[in-house]
Amino acid sequence: MVNLSEVKGIGPKTELLFNKIGIFTVDDLVTHYPFRYDVLKRSNLDNIEEDEKVIMDGKVESIPLIVRFKGGLNKLNFRLASPNGPIGVSIFNRAFLKPQLTIGTSVIVIGKYDKTKNIISASDIKFGTLSKEDKIEPVYHSTSGLTQKNLSNYINTCLLKYGNDIEDNIPKYLMDKYDFSNKKTALNIIHNPPNFDKIKEASIRLKYEELFEFMFKVNYLRLQNEKKEAGIARSGDISLLDDIIKSLSFELTGDQKNVLKEIIDDMNSSKKMNRIIEGDVGSGKTIVAFLAMYYNALCGYQSALMAPTEILAIQHYNNFKSLFKGKKVNVELLTGSITKKDKKPIYDGLKDGSINIVIGTHALIQDEVEYNNLGLVITDEQHRFGVNQRANLKNKGKKPDVLYMSATPIPRTYALTIYGDMDVSIIKEMPKGRKPVKTVVKNTSEVKDVLSMMYEELKAKHQVYVIAPLIEESDNIDLTTVYNLRDKMNLAFGSKYNIDIVHGKMASQAKDLIMNEFKQNKVNILISTTVIEVGVDVPNATMMVIFDANRFGLSTLHQLRGRVGRSELESKCVLISDIEDVKRLEIMENTNDGFEIAEEDFKLRGAGDIFGTKQSGDMNFKIANLKSDYKILSQAKKDSLEFLKNKEEDSNPLKIRLIEKIDVK
Ligand code: ADP
Ligand code: MG
Repeated sequence: MVNLSEVKGIGPKTELLFNKIGIFTVDDLVTHYPFRYDVLKRSNLDNIEEDEKVIMDGKVESIPLIVRFKGGLNKLNFRLASPNGPIGVSIFNRAFLKPQLTIGTSVIVIGKYDKTKNIISASDIKFGTLSKEDKIEPVYHSTSGLTQKNLSNYINTCLLKYGNDIEDNIPKYLMDKYDFSNKKTALNIIHNPPNFDKIKEASIRLKYEELFEFMFKVNYLRLQNEKKEAGIARSGDISLLDDIIKSLSFELTGDQKNVLKEIIDDMNSSKKMNRIIEGDVGSGKTIVAFLAMYYNALCGYQSALMAPTEILAIQHYNNFKSLFKGKKVNVELLTGSITKKDKKPIYDGLKDGSINIVIGTHALIQDEVEYNNLGLVITDEQHRFGVNQRANLKNKGKKPDVLYMSATPIPRTYALTIYGDMDVSIIKEMPKGRKPVKTVVKNTSEVKDVLSMMYEELKAKHQVYVIAPLIEESDNIDLTTVYNLRDKMNLAFGSKYNIDIVHGKMASQAKDLIMNEFKQNKVNILISTTVIEVGVDVPNATMMVIFDANRFGLSTLHQLRGRVGRSELESKCVLISDIEDVKRLEIMENTNDGFEIAEEDFKLRGAGDIFGTKQSGDMNFKIANLKSDYKILSQAKKDSLEFLKNKEEDSNPLKIRLIEKIDVK
């Protein structure tokens, strides 16, 4: 893979800009797909609405004049000979264009038309003529300093220079079967579209490849699982759990009981369990996992529970300890920030079997960790891990049962395809007494009201989360907004209440300290970035305020909101947004059902956000959309399985390459 720094013409500054939008390699660049196409079509100036964008072309008819203003502003004016007759054109801050705008030059002008003055106030000027056919222009996500034109030029430069090295990740016989063009050609069309039919054709080709690769991976793992299908058959009985279930402060919901039974059945069968529990936030997946681990310990096997963040691992650990107090199970916590010295006895205990249950983070899959008789592996918030990490932990034991938990409510049909390698258990029922979180959308001018709402909660001794806006990838900017918010909150509440912050850049000890204080209600207002999003459980927190809510996807908002409404107390969520995106946010006001929200998100944004943009490397599709491309997905699923199973294809370099990609990581 060629790094951007190796591309001629991309210096360190430009490279940084590219990095900002997630582009690091030539491969990233040429697959930076347009999110929209604009059609450049000559407007009929006699028939336009007020404020409508117009597009006109013609030849420069007068030498451009430049007017300069204070502060470096300038305005460039010239007359355009257009098919509509002569029109004045003016544009701000393009004085630099003057040398190119010689008389007779053909230009395309985009802007607003003032009919009485016969002037177009342009926002953009391009060189060229509008043809009879509509001109289609790709529009890319970008960042300031990187114009659409720059982007397009760099992409095309790279396609020209490296295009021939781009490999097709679809077997030849399938390329022939579907009459697909090669990837280079498809990319060329996507970035330089001749017409919409061609765009469609090329995008189907690219979507297919993306989904083919993904389904290849899922199918490969599934076949591997099937191979080592024999598992541990425990001889216990679910009644072993009766006492502990009775000792809980609540009664399990019907769904929790059913899912628990499915799991115990799996654990008792000689077939290896490979199951995912899907349940909305707050549906109570954790206790089910705990009971499975406890059952496993009673049957004489070790369990490992892996969480995506340290905060969450610690929470699970503390929770487990308090729920299973006095029970004969030895549980330990293993995370990255535990010192080497302290890890040693844990490693020893796992190896000699004296530790029954270990709860932790990625630290659980380090090479040093050896288990005595690992029988059950649980991964919480599965969508945060990649398929490969899924594979990793289970390989630690001989053939432990595997259970995943996911709060990603995707419709069952999709779940069955995507998790083709797993059985799916669904918890739909919420624990009794839960009240829906009352959600309202407000704009920044109403922050005062929001503060008084907060005050009401604080007076009742409840706690509040404040979520800082997600500005850009840059952590520094994120941090300033967190600190700014703290200052604001301090001004409003500092004299009476304790306010603290957590964010991703903090050392984990510091984070845990604050989280613990929040749990104990020593901190009353917790300001946070989205690090809080996953799994945190503080039932006394009854209000959440999310700034710049429009920047988040609905599913992320739903996950965030799931931090409140975790008890019988009435909870509130305020979404603050100034952008006219109210319709989307109103969905949050209208429903608390994660499945419904996921459906809406599917419709509005495609699957990307459902799996969280930065959450999983697996389902972060660049061009495919799981919902609207479901047909392609199904086909790719079938084709990739055939390809995998076909022994004659085993020497196909593509197959070898795709398998290496899965195994290496
Ligand atoms: P999630 O499914 O989002 O991981 P948790 O497992 O963290 O949810 O559960 C959310 C909260 O609900 C926890 O405080 C948990 O103790 C509580 N809870 C779980 N099951 C029940 C139940 N059946 N009745 C009442 N509360 C429950
Ligand atoms: Mg959870």
